[in-house]
Amino acid sequence: MSNSESSLEAYAKKRDFDKTPEPGPAREETRKRRFVVQEHHASHLHWDLRLEMEGVLKSWAVPKGPPEEPGIRRLAVQTEDHPVDYIDFEGEIEEGQYGAGTVVIWDRGTYDLSERDEKKLVFTLYGERLQGGYVLVHTRNDEWLLFKRK
Ligand code: MN
Repeated sequence: MSNSESSLEAYAKKRDFDKTPEPGPAREETRKRRFVVQEHHASHLHWDLRLEMEGVLKSWAVPKGPPEEPGIRRLAVQTEDHPVDYIDFEGEIEEGQYGAGTVVIWDRGTYDLSERDEKKLVFTLYGERLQGGYVLVHTRNDEWLLFKRK
């Protein structure tokens, strides 16, 4: 992962910021690690888990939503980095635009990162709904598995 400017290229290319209410890329240094889960009623309902990291939001689309109990493994497809301002985004993305549909914040809070390498992230969420230890494990391509620790 390089600097946050270039890692937002994919995000910016897909959107017309004159037409979408979503935030454009902006560099922002942040002190506190935050996360958000956005319920996204796009062509297929999914939940977007975003972790603030390196000045961007590392993002995964979770088709069945993040597990709230241990013992459940959920597919999490990594998507393009999003700008940190996206952490507050809720609204309607117009039809014809990328990701068209309604976005609502399903959970938000802070997190601690305890382990990180290319294949694994171990973190603790302090959200309103999601709390406790979580693991993201890379399986193949853009696919990861998300589960809650016992
Ligand atoms: Mn989405």
